[in-house]
Amino acid sequence: MKGGKLIVFSAPSGSGKTTIVRHLLEQPELNLAFSVSATSRARRVKEKHGEHYYFISISQFKNHIKNDEFLEWEEVYRDNFYGTLKTEVERLWAEGKNVIFDIDVVGGLRIKKKFPDQTLAVFVKPPSVDELKIRLKKRSTESEDKINMRIAKASVELATAPQFDKIIKNYDLDTALSEAKQLVLDFIKEPTTETTD
Ligand code: 5GP
Repeated sequence: MKGGKLIVFSAPSGSGKTTIVRHLLEQPELNLAFSVSATSRARRVKEKHGEHYYFISISQFKNHIKNDEFLEWEEVYRDNFYGTLKTEVERLWAEGKNVIFDIDVVGGLRIKKKFPDQTLAVFVKPPSVDELKIRLKKRSTESEDKINMRIAKASVELATAPQFDKIIKNYDLDTALSEAKQLVLDFIKEPTTETTD
């Protein structure tokens, strides 16, 4: 596989990475397209198939794994599988786009490892784990149980931050948004030399 740049945003759930990614997608000069992941988790009310995720069953997901159709995949939470289909990235590259990912830390680092020079891997750091909990509760998309599961995972995820190319502290959203835009602008200006199979 070869093509344009890959921009990965990873962070614990509730850190604000999705807001940052959505903002970047609205900047035409970045020429970004969103990598729609496949997932086996249930669709939330406002989510659309093919726009936020490709919502598939666990058995369909396992079939894609068996057929080696994922660039990376992860059981992010128990029975909730998430993955990037190779066809998704190829489709966006064919459109001449740089591809932006909103994925978990393990998946993000996997993409960086597969395409080291082509990828900018950014970690979004929340002010604290307590603040994460407040944000997740405010969002009200998950049950108390699921929020606790996400919080329990956050400390492990925070420990991976130093492995990323850049860390953005999302303490103040406007500052984080402009920092993110500048990072991506600088990165997409650099020439790419790498190709990988
Ligand atoms: P949510 O259920 O809140 O949409 O996502 C849960 C976590 O899974 C988030 O950290 C999200 O970024 C991550 N995620 C979404 N898509 C993918 C993917 O394709 N691969 C991996 N590894 N993680 C993903």
